[in-house]
Amino acid sequence: MFLVGKYARVVLLIGLVMGTVVVWAVSARDFDLARAERVSALQKPDLWQALLPAFVSQRDSEQLERQLGVLLEQPAVRYAVALDGAGDVLASLVRDPGADPSLPMLSGLRTGVPALAVGQRARALPAPFNEPRGWLSQLFPSLARGKVSDVTVPIISPVNPLEGIITSEALLASWAAPEAPGSVFVVGYIALGIDHGDLWQSLRDDIALTILYCVIALSLATALAGFYGRHLFGSLSELVESAREAVSKKLNTDIEFRAKGEAAHIAVLLNTAFAELKRYRANLNVDRELLNLKVEEQGSVITEREQQLTEARTEVTRTREDLHKMAYYDSLTGLPNRRFFNEQLNLLLKICRREESILALMFIDLDNFKRINDSLGHSAGDLLLREVSARLANCTRTSDLLGHFTDRHISVEVSRLGGDEFTVVANNLKDPEEAANVAKRALKALGAPMTIDGHELIVTPSIGIAIGPRDGKDVESLVRAADTAMYQAKTTGKNNYVYYTDEMSTTNMERLQLESDLRKAVEREELMLHYQPMVSLATGSVVGVEALVRWLHPQRGMVSPGEFIPLAEEMGLTLEIGEWTLRTACQTVAAMHKEGHRLTKVSVNISPIAISRSFAERVNNILNSTGVDPKHIELEITENVLMETDAASIESLRQLKKLGVSLSIDDFGTGYSSLSYLSHFPLDTLKIDGSFVQDFDKSANNKSLVEAIAAMGASLDLRVIAEGVETSEQLMFLRGLKLDIIQGYLFSRPVTAPKLPFILEKGYFRPKITQAMIVDTSGLKLDPA
Ligand code: C2E
Ligand code: MG
Ligand code: MG
Repeated sequence: MFLVGKYARVVLLIGLVMGTVVVWAVSARDFDLARAERVSALQKPDLWQALLPAFVSQRDSEQLERQLGVLLEQPAVRYAVALDGAGDVLASLVRDPGADPSLPMLSGLRTGVPALAVGQRARALPAPFNEPRGWLSQLFPSLARGKVSDVTVPIISPVNPLEGIITSEALLASWAAPEAPGSVFVVGYIALGIDHGDLWQSLRDDIALTILYCVIALSLATALAGFYGRHLFGSLSELVESAREAVSKKLNTDIEFRAKGEAAHIAVLLNTAFAELKRYRANLNVDRELLNLKVEEQGSVITEREQQLTEARTEVTRTREDLHKMAYYDSLTGLPNRRFFNEQLNLLLKICRREESILALMFIDLDNFKRINDSLGHSAGDLLLREVSARLANCTRTSDLLGHFTDRHISVEVSRLGGDEFTVVANNLKDPEEAANVAKRALKALGAPMTIDGHELIVTPSIGIAIGPRDGKDVESLVRAADTAMYQAKTTGKNNYVYYTDEMSTTNMERLQLESDLRKAVEREELMLHYQPMVSLATGSVVGVEALVRWLHPQRGMVSPGEFIPLAEEMGLTLEIGEWTLRTACQTVAAMHKEGHRLTKVSVNISPIAISRSFAERVNNILNSTGVDPKHIELEITENVLMETDAASIESLRQLKKLGVSLSIDDFGTGYSSLSYLSHFPLDTLKIDGSFVQDFDKSANNKSLVEAIAAMGASLDLRVIAEGVETSEQLMFLRGLKLDIIQGYLFSRPVTAPKLPFILEKGYFRPKITQAMIVDTSGLKLDPA
């Protein structure tokens, strides 16, 4: 319904404006008429009027005042004045004497007005005479406030005043003459002051009536407009209501717009627009659905990407962990590596310094590991290292001496620095001696036999113990100290532990120097061979010589093989030195033969490490290159090696045999070989270790051992040689055992090659044998055999 309301309001407004205009126009016209009416009273064609020029000419103020009085009776006339032609006042009447005293000058009122025309000028009255008069002017003060219209009407005479004073008679005669006067004369003026306020007041009834008519007309018009509006906008309003409802339901309704008349077009348009809108919305929904689908699709792609990202992240983390493990742990044993060890020890040393506590660093090196590694192969070596690390980790972990790291007891960390070098760090020690318990456990754990690749092996470690920060304030110096102590342990018998002492450091320095010198020894040709004869008791001739290596050190002089061969083995120089020895020995044989000396055999000591698959080939090469018949060469291997040797090494020994060289087993008796065990090897010679020979008379055991070996050798059809024979007693004892070949200081110390020709002379040692037998016969211990 609001449309109708608006429409009605507009109509009302228009009606009001129009009504106001009408009322104003009618009132203004009434005002003008009323004013004109006042003026027309002066122009009435009555007698008095006709005589007025005479009264002016005669200056009869009495008559004039009477006339003015009539005029003044008219409502709204404030004053009436009679003036002569020159503008002098002849008579004047003022309705309210207290009102405006000033009358305007005639000249001012008539300026620009034709002589016979009525002059009319409106002017504002000065205060205090301008008070509104009547309720209307009070209601609309601006309408008539203090306003007066000064009206001047000329007094016309048909008689010429210049011909003398105009008389009433002449005037009347002139007016009454049938012919119209030829000319007329203005003899004076009547001036009227018409008060606007009063005039409006006099019109109030008329104005009220006009307003009434207007109100009636307006009411009628509004009623009509309302009626028509309702007719016109009723349908429109319904349409609006329907549209509003449709909008409120968000177009989710099947509304059909219906309307009559003009509004029917709008309904049709609305229906079309609504249908269009619905279709548009349906399209929009489809689009939105599609968009949702795409979003979902993208969402699943994103989820997939996120999964991939998570997987990649996990992979990176794993790789990082692997890298960390690779960087800090030994891949073979799983123990912390050198890097980890260094960092940990560095940290622990700092803590020790701060807390004034001590720790022990144990440097563990396996005795003869290189030998095992080379003879059994690297995979067996790896297995061994794993077993060793497992045992070390176990014995330190399960020790009842050791508490947990966080306790204020000892905590132990095992690391592998590389090769066969292990470290054990025992932290939070109260006393340096506590480390010995850990070391003993390690020795015990490692000392138990272990089966590697079907071989039963005994691995012994050498342990060096350094106490931090006493023996070394930083990692490097502490490790050096422990290493020195370890080396000391090795040189003093192996399979034990040694605490570091300051005196050792000089030994260590010497050892380092020795190592570096040894490396250069072969190049500088500082190595040499001495030859010790093996003498036949039956003939007194040399049946062979043993080549024994010597190192002529530029500063130290002669260094014995017992000192530098183990060092060479640890340093991996075995093959190099071994080849040099064999080659030199062969060259000596060749040289002796060339000079025509009778050298039937040279024995060369072979380091167990050297015996591998390719060994026979290398031996063959050397024999070929020196042109020595293999039958002149005997290779000495130790008994211990035989025990540890695997199938590959046995095969290697067989190959050597095939070459034509003979094989001898050195230092026999020091190991644990059994008779049947020996029969597995293609051996030619058995050398009884000198220690048994030398002590045969001190221990019954030794004596019976030598006897047993001699018997065993004979039964196995081996050549048996006794080593280290120094005295006649020993010689006679051996002779009694039917041992024929003797090696020892009794006959000769090892000699240099140039001396060989002499001792190779046939029966060279016969005098010595005779002498020994005499000495022995003269003694009390003569063996009846
Ligand atoms: P080995 O093979 O048992 O050599 C015999 C050792 O006993 C030699 O010591 C020899 O000088 C010493 N000897 C000989 N007769 C007597 C004696 O009557 N009394 C005493 N007390 N000793 C005697 P050397 O030359 O010091 O050699 C020691 C060991 O070094 C050798 O024992 C051998 O195992 C090793 N060796 C020597 N030369 C070589 C070499 O060229 N290669 C390898 N791998 N080892 C070698
Ligand atoms: Mg030997
Ligand atoms: Mg020997």
